[in-house]
This record gives sequence, structure tokens and C-alpha cells, in this order.
Amino acid sequence: MNVYQTIYDTQKAFFKSGATKPYTFRKQQLQKLEAVLRANEALINEALYKDLRKHPQEVYMTETGAVYEEINVQLKNMRSWMRPKTVPSSLFLFPAVSKIYAEPVGNVLVISPWNYPILLTLRGVAGAIAAGNTVLIKPSELSAHTAAVMEKIINENFDAGFLHVINGDGVTVVPQLLEHFHFDHVMFTGSTAVGKKVMEMAAKQLSPVTLELGGKSPCIIAPDANISVAAKRIVWGKLIACGQSCVAPDYLVVHESVKDKLVLAIIAEFEKGFGTNPQQHDSYPRLINKRRFEAVKRFLNDGNILYGGQTDETDLFIAPTILDNIQPDAPIMREEIFGPVLPVFTYKENAEVVELVEKNPYPLALYVFTGSKQTEQFFIEHIRFGGGGINETILQLGNSELPFGGVGYSGHGGYLGKHSFDTFTNYKGVVKRYTWMEPAFRHAPFSSAKTKLWR
Ligand code: NAD
Repeated sequence: MNVYQTIYDTQKAFFKSGATKPYTFRKQQLQKLEAVLRANEALINEALYKDLRKHPQEVYMTETGAVYEEINVQLKNMRSWMRPKTVPSSLFLFPAVSKIYAEPVGNVLVISPWNYPILLTLRGVAGAIAAGNTVLIKPSELSAHTAAVMEKIINENFDAGFLHVINGDGVTVVPQLLEHFHFDHVMFTGSTAVGKKVMEMAAKQLSPVTLELGGKSPCIIAPDANISVAAKRIVWGKLIACGQSCVAPDYLVVHESVKDKLVLAIIAEFEKGFGTNPQQHDSYPRLINKRRFEAVKRFLNDGNILYGGQTDETDLFIAPTILDNIQPDAPIMREEIFGPVLPVFTYKENAEVVELVEKNPYPLALYVFTGSKQTEQFFIEHIRFGGGGINETILQLGNSELPFGGVGYSGHGGYLGKHSFDTFTNYKGVVKRYTWMEPAFRHAPFSSAKTKLWR
């Protein structure tokens, strides 16, 4: 028997019982999730320090705090999102009323990555709970300490039929779940390579999937950009989680007239934030493991090191680094960097930027620093990307009014706020016809007079 049969059956039965549907249940569970997280912040901070050396402030800013925010958005709005919506009915349907009913999809599976293990697991979970579903969670085994804390605090505090964490190696656990059971929705966040496998496995059971994947997200700096603000926001976006953010600015494409000014401003920001010896600074995180360390270290050979370049394998440390003189087909420009290394390209004309970006599949994010509305519009219109920022990096994720997601190779299906509620909801369209009148024109026998009424 499949080792997960019991938990799968328990969640199926829980959903079938109808327990997850009432507003009060959803509200209580969301409030409880927040309370459980708040009560265990010390454990979470400790685990994220062990996994990624994240500073508690970074944890609050990019993990727990953002989950509380999402829970609160769901709590504030779900009652109105749950209500059936009456929509207009055409004259042809007269007399009738048409309604859309928001029904939970049912049993949801969330598979999450290691880089923001709390955020990228529980923000989706909050939306799935708000929409009235049960949720099974499979965190990444690579952020093992945080995965263990999630298992402990969720499995000890929630009914397993409603919300439950399964830990283990993805290669073993995920196929056992996806290939054997039908889930009403699978939300996967991780690499494009594994995303393809997940979609293939889910297809066997016809389980619908949302894929939040990776990619190379360009950051364009136009000649009219506010360089000192750009430097601050680029450094923040690049070094948070030590560059291991799916939406980190992957590489810079800067107008040649402002390259030197920008590079100097970025170096100044590196040193303001982390000193001249970032390895000793308590705000500077680490690479997740030796494999990632080696992959990022190899990229240092792909160009000329303008700044940084120090590494220490025993500590999984790579210094904030700027590279230039990179061939556009070097490995660093073919793979997602996912580390604190920033390649810098220059351009003269906007069209050159589009050409460089298009060497890779559609990016998850795009950032443009400019003072000009025209430049902003040019890049928004000429490049396909999931979401992004003008004069900002990463903070498109900070607004739950915006759908967060990729396009093509960077994924499909957006979530956050109402978009999450929609992802985990089956909208049932129902037409109700009244019986006090029955027009004859649609019924046989047909005639030319009736046909005319149709045209
Ligand atoms: P990953 O794809 O290796 O792992 C993600 C999840 O899949 C984990 O839970 C893991 O256990 C499981 N898994 C791993 N190998 C598997 C396999 N062969 N079969 C089935 N399941 C498997 O991703 P990661 O290394 O944890 O995360 C880094 C990647 O995720 C980067 O590419 C990054 O850009 C992307 N990412 C995307 C987003 C987003 O929101 N779009 C967010 C964070 C990370």
C-alpha cells in the first residue's frame, strides 16, 4: 500500500464532511495559523538561521511578516469573495437569474522550495484555507531545519485531515503522491526542471497545477534613472537570501553612460550594508549547500571580477560580487545565478536590451530603473515576463492586489490575495429559470417564423 494512503484518505474524508466550508471554520483556522506562527517565531528564526543564516529581521521582512500580511488580506476579504455573485442574464434566457458560486476545489497539495521555506509554503496555504480546502504540504528537504519546524508546529496544532506536513526527499515523496492520487489542485514552487516533472506526474491523475518556477530576471538601468536609489534597491533585491530569490535581479543591463556611476554606487551600498568583510557581518546570509556554493562559484570564472569574488567553502560564503566583460553565451548567462553575483552588461539602444533578454526564456521578473514613462512602457511592451517593478526590485510580491506568477518557462498561474482565492476555488456557474413562462421559439416543431426570431 502507498505510505501516504492513510493521510490522503483522511484529507479526502475531511473535505467530504463539509467541515472546511463554513466561513467561521476558515476564519478560525487562519487565525490559528497566525497564532501558531507567532508563538513559534523563535523556533522559526533559529531554523532559518541554521538553514540559510538569515537574520531575524530578514526573516520577519521576507517570511513570517509577509505570511501574516497574506493571512490578514484573506481574513479581511474572504467573506465577500465566498458569496455567490449574481451576473446579468441575456434576454434569450428570460425569465432567469444567473449566479456564480465559489466552491472550494477540495484537496490541495503544496510543494515548496528551500529559499523562502516559510513564505513560499504558507502564503499559498493561507489562500487555500481561505477558499475552504484541505492542504497537504511537502516542504523542501534542503531547508531541513525549517521543514522540521513546520512539521512540528503544524502537525501538533492542526487536524491532520485538514492541514498536514509530510517531510522527505522530493525525488521519493513527490511521485508517490502525484502519480497515485488525484489532487484537486497542486501548487508547486521550485525549479523549471522539476516543474516539468511535476506537471507530467500530475497529468496522470489530471490534477490541475500552478507552477511557480525560476528564470533569469533582468534589471535595466536607463540613463535617466535615479542612480543612488537604483543602487540601494538593486543591492537589497540581490542580496536578500544571498541572491537565492526566484525574483532576484539576475543581471544588470545598464546604459553605457551611467555604468561607472552605478557600479560605484552599488559597491558603496554593499559596504554600507555588510561592511568590507561581509563574511563577518551578521546580516549577510549564506548559500544553502555545497552544491549551490560550487555552482555559484563556477560563475566567477565567466567574467572579469570588478568587485568581491571572495569565497569560503567551509562556511558556504560567497562575497557580493560584480562581474563585467561577460560573453552573452557564457554559463552565467544561460543558467539562473541564484547567488550574490551580479553580471553587468551595457547597452546603447533599447532594442539591444530586448535582444539580450530574449536569449533566455521569458523571465519571471523584470525591473526597469528610469525617470521616463516612455522607457518604462517600451520595456513593459517589448518583453514578456511574469511580473516586475519600475524603480524597484522584488516588491511586486509585496502587494497582494497583484497576481504573482511566471509565464512560459517561468511558470503559469498567479497567486496572492484574491488571485490565490481564485486559484483554489471552483467557480460554478448556475442559471436558474423561472417556470411561470415558457417561450415556444426554441422548441420543435421548428419553422421559418421561429428561425427568424433567432437571427
Ligand atoms: P526544486 O525544484 O529542486 O525543489 C522544489 C520542490 O520539489 C522541493 O519540495 C523538492 O523536495 C521537490 N523535488 C525536488 N526534486 C524533485 C523531483 N525530481 N521530483 C519531484 N519533486 C522534487 O527547487 P529548489 O531548488 O527548492 O528551489 C530553487 C528553484 O525554485 C529556483 O529555480 C527558483 O527560481 C525557483 N523558485 C521559484 C519561485 C517562484 O515563486 N516562482 C520561488 C522560489 C524559488
